[in-house]
Amino acid sequence: MPSHYCRKDSTKLYLEQFFQTKQELYREYKNYCDENGFSNLILSNPVFDQTFSELNLALYQPKKDRCDICCGFETKNISEIEYQKHLEKKERARQEKDKDKELAQQEKVYTFCMDLQAVKICPVVNASKIYYKTKLAVHNFTIYDMNTHVCRNYWFNETEADLSAPTFTNFILDFIKDKCTKNIPIILYSDGCCYQNRNCILSNALLNYSIKKKVLIEQKYLEKGHTQMECDAVHSLIERKLKNRNIELPSDYVKLTKEARTKPFPLEVVDVNHDFFLDYADQKNWIYNSIRPGRKVNDPTVTDLRHLKYNFETKLIEYKIDFNEEFQPLPVRSLKYPEIEYNVLHQRRLKIKEIKWKHLQEIKCVLSKDCHSFYDNLLH
Ligand SMILES: [Zn+2]
Repeated sequence: MPSHYCRKDSTKLYLEQFFQTKQELYREYKNYCDENGFSNLILSNPVFDQTFSELNLALYQPKKDRCDICCGFETKNISEIEYQKHLEKKERARQEKDKDKELAQQEKVYTFCMDLQAVKICPVVNASKIYYKTKLAVHNFTIYDMNTHVCRNYWFNETEADLSAPTFTNFILDFIKDKCTKNIPIILYSDGCCYQNRNCILSNALLNYSIKKKVLIEQKYLEKGHTQMECDAVHSLIERKLKNRNIELPSDYVKLTKEARTKPFPLEVVDVNHDFFLDYADQKNWIYNSIRPGRKVNDPTVTDLRHLKYNFETKLIEYKIDFNEEFQPLPVRSLKYPEIEYNVLHQRRLKIKEIKWKHLQEIKCVLSKDCHSFYDNLLH
């Protein structure tokens, strides 16, 4: 499985979580060689290890990495000054979030946070013959209201949507449209992942919504490495519910998520279809062609953005690269205000690779009969 976090080494591929240790993997590899008549070709443990890392593989992806800067300071690769700056920024972002949570409790603003859960696969059954098969990727994007504790989970598999900016833009806009019935500012918290939360597609959609509804929207990004939010606790609840459960269909994730929380009330779940999505990437509906705060080489870039404001009165996007600074308008924009009309994003379900389709057909034999038709109908 590919990495789904914004990380430097995101070219790494990860195994599914069948194996907890390299030793377990090595044992399975040896068994496989023995059973298939390659006993005389078995690599030694160190050579196997080396080959594994040369192939840029890793066992599985930990939930969240420890912060690079904090780790770097411990191992003396980060200077005291840089580390102190990092701690200040982390603390400042936390204060900002606490303040907005309080405002939300006073019903002066809406404050939401959001994140993508670690990738899931389908099917999950306890049968060793499916170790070697590739499976469907299934994702959950969660949005949490920090005042009401309403929490909606958008579950989708890779045949209904991909992990690109328009997908997440649709979830965020859908949630806002449903939940923001009062005209008070909307504040969105997330990590700084570009394809999910910090990109031109989402920004244009939020600006258009702000202008149309005459409502102020702000986006604030937590400090990298310290992005713990209320939705993480929800993901832990869901993970607990999924433990030792068989998954035969993507909709099993939907069912289990509905049962994962009882207090103060159950989680909301949307089983997302490809026809749910609007094409927010269509540039004819854009006011801004870029959300880059600078134009010259050493100017700040998109990843420096900390805070964005969608101002319906001025029809401008304003930004801060530090919570303590004043807002400045983003420089690149056109003067046109388009007649907004969004088309449908996906005309049909998305195709999977032929090899994956083949593998899934082979896996069917260990699944209940009534879910076979789901796998029969996948496009490749
Ligand atoms: Zn840190």
